[in-house]
Amino acid sequence: MVPVLQLFRRDVPALAFPPGTDVLQVLWRPLVHSEHDQWSPVPVLRWRSTVEVLAEPLLEQATPPYEFDDDYVPQPCVVHPTGTVEYPNWDLPAELLERVGEWSAELEETVGISYFDAFTTQQSKVGGYPGWTQKPDWPDCACGIPMEHLLTISASESCGRRLPVEERTRPGSGWEVRAHGEHEEDDSHGMAMSDCGGVYVFLCRSCPRWPSVHRYDC
Ligand SMILES: [Zn+2]
Repeated sequence: MVPVLQLFRRDVPALAFPPGTDVLQVLWRPLVHSEHDQWSPVPVLRWRSTVEVLAEPLLEQATPPYEFDDDYVPQPCVVHPTGTVEYPNWDLPAELLERVGEWSAELEETVGISYFDAFTTQQSKVGGYPGWTQKPDWPDCACGIPMEHLLTISASESCGRRLPVEERTRPGSGWEVRAHGEHEEDDSHGMAMSDCGGVYVFLCRSCPRWPSVHRYDC
C-alpha cells in the first residue's frame, strides 16, 4: 500500500472522527482492481490516534511499493485545507437540474463559467459533493441509507478552478502562471488517473466501524 492522504482533525474541524481518533489515513495498493467494477485502486481508510501512532517508531522513509502502476503512486505533497460551500451538480433532482442547466448556459455565456464548474470543486476534497464527470452513481449502504461523500482524490488537480491561494501563488509551486486547463508539472499529487473526476470515497456513519466504498469517475 502507498500513502495517499493524511488528514489531522485539527486541519479539518468540520470532519467528524470516530471517538479516540484524530488522524485519517487513506492508502491504496497502486494497481487497478476490478472491485465493484470500478477499475481503479481501492482506497482503504485508517482512523488512528496520533498518540498511538507516535508510540511506535516511525520509518524514515516509506517502503517503496513492490508492484505498482505509476499513475496511482502520489508524489510527496501537502494539502492546504481551505473551506468552501458547495452545491450538488448532477445529483440535483431531474426537474431542478433542467432549470439549473438552462440558467447555467446563460451564466457561461455572460461570465464564462458554468454552474457546474462554479459550484462543485474538482480538486481533492473532504465533504461536499462528488464532481461527477459521468452519470452519478451514489452508493447506498447495506443498511439501506445513502452513504455520505467523505472525500475525493482528484484525478488531476488541474481540472478544477479552485486552488487554495497557497498553491496558486507560491513561487515554484508550478501553478503560479497557469491558465485553467493547462497541464504542466506541478507540486500536486502528480497522479494522472484521467482528465477529470477521480476516486470518491463514501461512508456510512450509521453502521458500526463506518464502512466505506469507493467510486471511480473519469
Ligand atoms: Zn450503513
